[in-house]
Amino acid sequence: MRLLVVEDELRLADALRRGLQAEGFAVDVANTGTDGFRLAKQNPYDVILLDLMLPGINGFKLCAMLREAEVWSPILILTAKDGELDEAEALDTGADDFLTKPFSFTVLMARIRALLRRTSGSRPALLSAGELVLDPASHQVRRGEAEIELTAREFSLLELLLRRKGEVLTKSEILEHVWDYDFEGDSNIVEVYIGYLRKKIDAPFDQKTIHTIRGVGYLVKED
Ligand code: CA
Repeated sequence: MRLLVVEDELRLADALRRGLQAEGFAVDVANTGTDGFRLAKQNPYDVILLDLMLPGINGFKLCAMLREAEVWSPILILTAKDGELDEAEALDTGADDFLTKPFSFTVLMARIRALLRRTSGSRPALLSAGELVLDPASHQVRRGEAEIELTAREFSLLELLLRRKGEVLTKSEILEHVWDYDFEGDSNIVEVYIGYLRKKIDAPFDQKTIHTIRGVGYLVKED
């Protein structure tokens, strides 16, 4: 899953980037509203974290501009102020949720997971395909009783495939959601990682969860 952080406080932006990357997210950071707008229009972010007090375009304005530009990524507003007025205004401008600074990283992660659930049609806390189960909160993957160890990137790729179960995802869609803006390699990296995943989640169990749709992309189906 790929996130955009729009935050002008460099230390906070950097701490968020590192924390979210450690959780397996691909993360882009914009330090101004203008950059945030440009990136959010270019890339299909799964969640946007938006600071309210930004130089130039503030968070409310940016949120309204994004919705007007038909950018529908879920938006979580980060605000240093609190009070009912801000909360109502944040929701009215098209934001999906808000969090008052200082916040705990645990709560931030739970809010992000809730927003990710909201975007898929069904909203299970656990993602699954047959006996394969992924828990976004505890970062555990199991097939039946067997626990499977994945790297952060493999986990992120599997999470995307399971959230979009039944849909064919192209390599470029996968690249956009699982790798961040700084990635400059080619889309063969997706094939490589699909291969790593298959070795861990399918091959040892003699199952085929990830299907290749020749010339199009990949599809996860129930066993
Ligand atoms: Ca700020």
